[in-house]
Amino acid sequence: MAIEKLDPASFRPIVGIDLGTTNSAVAYIHEGRPHVIPSETGERLLPSVVLLDAEGQVVVGQDARDGLVAMPDRAIAAVKRLMGTSDTIKLGSQTFLPEEISALILKELRQRLVTIYGEQMVEAVITVPAYFNDAQRRATKQAGELAGFVVERIINEPTAAALAYGLDHSGDHKHVLVYDLGGGTFDVSVVTLEEGVLEVKASNGNRRLGGEDFDWRLVDWMAGQVYETSGVDPREDLRARAILKELAERAKWTLSDEPEATIESPLLMVHDDHPVILQTKIHRDQFVSMIQPWLDETFTLVMDVLQQAELGPDAIDEVLLVGGSTRIPRVHEMIAQYFGRPARSEVDPELVVALGAAVQAGIKSGALSNSGIVATDVAPFSMGIATARPFGYGWRPGYFAPIIKRNTAVPCTQTQIFTTLSDGQDTIEVEVYQGEDELVANNYNLGSFLLNGIPSAPAGTENIEVTFRYNLNGILEATARIISTKHAKSIVVQDGLERHSASALEQSRARLEALWDNMLETQPVQTSLDDEFADVFEVDDETLTEKDFALELADQAEVTMKDLEALMQETTDKAERKRLISCLEKIKGALTAEDPNTLQDAIDEALDLLFDLES
Ligand code: ADP
Ligand code: MG
Repeated sequence: MAIEKLDPASFRPIVGIDLGTTNSAVAYIHEGRPHVIPSETGERLLPSVVLLDAEGQVVVGQDARDGLVAMPDRAIAAVKRLMGTSDTIKLGSQTFLPEEISALILKELRQRLVTIYGEQMVEAVITVPAYFNDAQRRATKQAGELAGFVVERIINEPTAAALAYGLDHSGDHKHVLVYDLGGGTFDVSVVTLEEGVLEVKASNGNRRLGGEDFDWRLVDWMAGQVYETSGVDPREDLRARAILKELAERAKWTLSDEPEATIESPLLMVHDDHPVILQTKIHRDQFVSMIQPWLDETFTLVMDVLQQAELGPDAIDEVLLVGGSTRIPRVHEMIAQYFGRPARSEVDPELVVALGAAVQAGIKSGALSNSGIVATDVAPFSMGIATARPFGYGWRPGYFAPIIKRNTAVPCTQTQIFTTLSDGQDTIEVEVYQGEDELVANNYNLGSFLLNGIPSAPAGTENIEVTFRYNLNGILEATARIISTKHAKSIVVQDGLERHSASALEQSRARLEALWDNMLETQPVQTSLDDEFADVFEVDDETLTEKDFALELADQAEVTMKDLEALMQETTDKAERKRLISCLEKIKGALTAEDPNTLQDAIDEALDLLFDLES
């Protein structure tokens, strides 16, 4: 019997991506092992910072990060915190949605893949924190699509970490605690392994606690030293503040390897024509005592998560350290003390999530087909519909009937039977919610639809079967079926929520593309991109950019007006109609006046409104 040999070239191009709050990274499977793909200059991490410079060019990564403190109105960091909201982000004169900023970060990572995959379509597995809800997962998926990836799957970061450690095939039953202390967030999760399936059992965290806090604490301390010697507070000077932040982070890194760090800046700023200098030393113990309150807080959360998972510290088989801030030796000490055993940190804590996402990608593509890994995920929230309960002589509506319970392994399909409330009822409204509360009002509405055509019958005789199908990308399909007539109706929640988003998505993609090309045009030409962008370099770019901008804006206006009109047809709400009409008028006015700035503002306002109304 012959054994088929897989040809590596036949594997689908698929990568794993850690889209982090502070840093992002991309990895793939090569010769049976996950590898992070570095930038052309050898950087493996990409700071998750986007800056729009004075010429309107997009800068992503370290250069953007360098400009963050000095140009706060042109740069954005930690956009991950805004994912799933409709908050707009203003960079210079342009406004962006959170998923658009994330898409720019992902586009930069896509550049790193050109040497391996060229320009072909690449699939991606992208990670998100275990606590991300549906809207946040969808926004992440959308960011991937905007960046030109086919998003194969969204997986939980702690699950990815466990995959990177190969824990999925390391025994048949295991409890793993993943302690993730990054730049801006702390997450702790209990992941269990049962029969080759990894599940996040419980997770907890503080979304505002991380390495950045430690940096700013050091900045305050250094500023105090400067004040003592010079009488000036350097934090009030934007440039000096930026230098201090940078010095603080470096000192923090040194203290992870050495017992002491020297901090020096010969010219922090100029005050009264005199240079203000900083020259000091800090010992690791001093630093640890500064950050100890935050570390203690992480352990309170560790205890909470263990309680949620109904496990004691001795029931944990492995502790995995994830996130750059776990390089701080005090973190290792505290873990060893609490769990009575050292944590595992052999895999680079800043890359482990991307590497694990690549393992998941490899399982999908066949590059790791012999590993025997199944790796599924779990539903992070319960999902169900609104129902009524008997109350006195009548019914009280607004109760949540979960159909898929939280922590159910996904993909999954679950069905429940419901019935009519009143005699002759011919229609039911199926309202889909996500959450854990008994009352739907306290949960998150995912969408709703009407199922009509129920045959006339006494209350409680016609049965309606409601089926929820939840896939690994966190997308839910809800179907309601009248059993007697087989008549059925469904929604896929992603589409249900974003009826108009196909054109918005196109629009947004085109805009990012334009910004991106503009950026590549003025950057030094990279040899591998020479050919592809040859045409762009040949044209007279001044006129092209202006004309392009005007044309693109006019296109955008047209699409936006269509969307507004479509929604106007549908809405029955007077106030909504009024707002839609006002937006339409504004766009039309700006088009007639041929004023691009007003037009851009009007379009932005309309997009905001569309997003508001659609969700
Ligand atoms: P995120 O998950 O938020 O994207 P990362 O896991 O990339 O974050 O961690 C970034 C944080 O790790 C930053 O605050 C950085 O300063 C910190 N960090 C990186 N290396 C070290 C080190 N050697 N010692 C202490 N902190 C570190
Ligand atoms: Mg992270």
